[in-house]
Amino acid sequence: MKALVVYPNKEALYAASTLGEYAALAVGDAELKAAEGAPVVYNVRGDPRDLGLRISAVLQLAGQYDVIIMPSLKETKTIGGYMSQKLNAPFITDVVSLRAEGGKLLVERYVFGNKATASLRANVPAVLTIAPGKFLGEPPKASTKVVELSPQSAGLFRIAGVEPKASGGVRIEEAEIIVSVGRGFKKKEDLAMAFDLAKALGGQVGCSRPIAADLKWLSEDHWVGLSGHKVRPKLYLAIGISGQPQHIAGILDSRIIAAINNDPNAPIFQYADYGVVEDLYKIVPILIRKAAELKK
Ligand SMILES: Cc1cc2nc3c(=O)[nH]c(=O)nc-3n(C[C@H](O)[C@H](O)[C@H](O)COP(=O)(O)OP(=O)(O)OC[C@H]3O[C@@H](n4cnc5c(N)ncnc54)[C@H](O)[C@@H]3O)c2cc1C
Repeated sequence: MKALVVYPNKEALYAASTLGEYAALAVGDAELKAAEGAPVVYNVRGDPRDLGLRISAVLQLAGQYDVIIMPSLKETKTIGGYMSQKLNAPFITDVVSLRAEGGKLLVERYVFGNKATASLRANVPAVLTIAPGKFLGEPPKASTKVVELSPQSAGLFRIAGVEPKASGGVRIEEAEIIVSVGRGFKKKEDLAMAFDLAKALGGQVGCSRPIAADLKWLSEDHWVGLSGHKVRPKLYLAIGISGQPQHIAGILDSRIIAAINNDPNAPIFQYADYGVVEDLYKIVPILIRKAAELKK
């Protein structure tokens, strides 16, 4: 089976390589670098922010490939639906495993906010996005043949303006320890406690949606959950977070979940390996002190 990777990264390239022949489509220098080692790389000329370019390039190449594979990103969920409609192909998101059998694709994908997986048998062509952290092998390195492409943008999107995104310089999806804050914190200044604890533990600070999206106390790169980042740390410590399904969807791959909440009925305790029913303002300073003592 032949696969074409769009928005190339290591995991998508590896997933594609497990199916057989594969190629990558790159728009801009960063993607060209990420695609290095793929047997064929289509170097698409144009503005990497123009989603319509990728759509046009995929439609131009689609007849040569059985499967279009992309990482799970906001952009790929947008363009994937459009490609699938144009190619009359199924669009399967959040794929966790993948193999070809008898000309069909056998796919497992997350369902119910990542709480379960569904097994599907899909016809090709198919358009897929893969869940992060599920395709962790090394794609075989080939000498890359670069093919230049200059498609006309599908013109579905217009860049109305460009503003730098507020960023705390955090890559929360890669953190091994996450101290995550929710609306249990009464004011922005109190988050300093969480930063102190994260520092003492050698971790990063994450947050629930209201902290980033509504209150804007932290930038979006801290945001964990269904519409934020999916994380898979060794330890996820949820402080003052109730544990609504949209938050839980982002943390189920954590090795250990611990929670501090003053409501014994908070749903987070159903998912926590360890829980403390107490006022966070009482417990967090104790944890900071203990973590500092252990470091000595
Ligand atoms: C389409 C959609 C997508 C969404 N995506 C996301 C997402 O990606 N991520 C996400 O997080 N949410 C998401 N949400 C929002 C989600 O439904 C919840 O509203 C949100 O997760 C709640 O945030 P919270 O737990 O911080 O706040 P709350 O639900 O208000 O919980 C605060 C908790 O703090 C506890 N608390 C209060 N005071 C203290 C104290 N002194 N000490 C200890 N505990 C205390 C309370 O008991 C409570 O459990 C989404 C919603 C929708 C509709």
